[in-house]
Amino acid sequence: MAIQVIKDKCKGCKLCLKACPFDAIEMDGKLAVINEKCTACNQCIDACPFKAIEKTGDDEAVDLSAYKNVWVFAEQRNGKLMNVALELIGEGYRLAKEISADTKICAVLIGDNIGHLADECYAYGAEEVILIEDPLLKNYTTDAYTKVLVDACHEYKPELVIYGATHIGRDLAPRVAARMNTGLTADCTRLDIKVSSYIEYADKNTTLDTSTLDPKDPSTGIKQTRPAFGGNLMATIICPKTRPQMSTVRPGVMQKRDKVEGAKGELTVYKPQIAESDIHVKIVDIVKSAKELVSLTDAEIICSGGRGLGDPSGFELIKKFADKVGGVVGSSRAAVDAGWIDHSHQVGQTGTTVKPKIYFACGISGAIQHLAGMQTSDIIVAINKDPDAPIFEVADFGIVGDLYKVIPQIIEEWDNAEE
Ligand code: FAD
Repeated sequence: MAIQVIKDKCKGCKLCLKACPFDAIEMDGKLAVINEKCTACNQCIDACPFKAIEKTGDDEAVDLSAYKNVWVFAEQRNGKLMNVALELIGEGYRLAKEISADTKICAVLIGDNIGHLADECYAYGAEEVILIEDPLLKNYTTDAYTKVLVDACHEYKPELVIYGATHIGRDLAPRVAARMNTGLTADCTRLDIKVSSYIEYADKNTTLDTSTLDPKDPSTGIKQTRPAFGGNLMATIICPKTRPQMSTVRPGVMQKRDKVEGAKGELTVYKPQIAESDIHVKIVDIVKSAKELVSLTDAEIICSGGRGLGDPSGFELIKKFADKVGGVVGSSRAAVDAGWIDHSHQVGQTGTTVKPKIYFACGISGAIQHLAGMQTSDIIVAINKDPDAPIFEVADFGIVGDLYKVIPQIIEEWDNAEE
């Protein structure tokens, strides 16, 4: 898909220049010309009074067989890989091997002076690392990362690109998908690959237009599953006509592979074409907020409080509990919405997905949206005064009682055990 100026109709009025948020239109004399910064956002089409700008190429068939290998955006910050990158390398490895023996799992490292991270990617399963380094990529900016990743996608044509659903992944993936004119499924909780997936879907789903699909096409398809309608049903989404297929996956959902120290793989150094003029924001300072100190994703023990705390002071007890057992404080959305605690503590569908060794749910009913973010925890302990609370259906251990009596007792027992 592209935006095109119809030369005969363009009057050189420059209204499209003013409407374009991406500086993607220049004037060549009296003719508007679209440049490579265009994101096909349509603003110029709406702004043009002469109907001189149109969208083209919607029906261009993509050669699916030209795309190969599974890519993971191996997100790093300050030269340290995010845990989710390693989880996705594990998942990507599984998917790549299901597609075919010669499909590679590639970790894409973007930054500056980050080559040392390649070994860690290999150790967790990456067969190839695509290294994209430049001083302009030292800190994440949407413009720079989008440009270099889109350029690399055009160059190497990956079949599938997976990103962690982190703040950066959620910002980057839709930009890249739009530039590549492909689909993106956000917040996947499950990915599956089946060689005949298109045929299978065509059989089951009569609304899918199969006329453009060739059943003999050897290309594989990915089935991307994510919660929909507030978590009440799971939607499985496919991307049958365009490539790369793209998904974001929440941290903590996929499994890392066992680390193989000293594992080696192929290194591809991709020299990015990036200039300061490609970047529209200037980073003046990076201030690490106290909020970022809550690391629910990596926590082994989480003590979460919900509306059952009754008021914000209840989190003082939860904090005391968490400090005692070496955990971090989580919360339900009801507690966040009530203004009792910051959103960075929220566990669930619209909060963080967690997978600790022990999850304590204190005064939390167990709504499906909360369960979506914690039900894969190794052990769940629920404390609730209502014996019929749904949280007990997923709990390994349930304590029916007033949390203000139960938690101090646990703390006391803990103290006794330590003496
Ligand atoms: P409640 O449902 O009110 O439960 C309070 C519980 O505390 C009750 O079970 C009660 O028996 C118990 N209780 C009360 N007093 C005591 C006491 N003294 N001792 C022990 N137990 C006590 N929710 C999330 O958590 N995370 C999300 O990410 C999220 N995303 C959402 C996204 C959408 C689109 C929607 C529609 C909703 C979302 N929700 C989310 C909200 C969710 O549906 C619930 O409203 C919320 O989880 C309820 O929080 P709660 O369990 O703390 O409160």
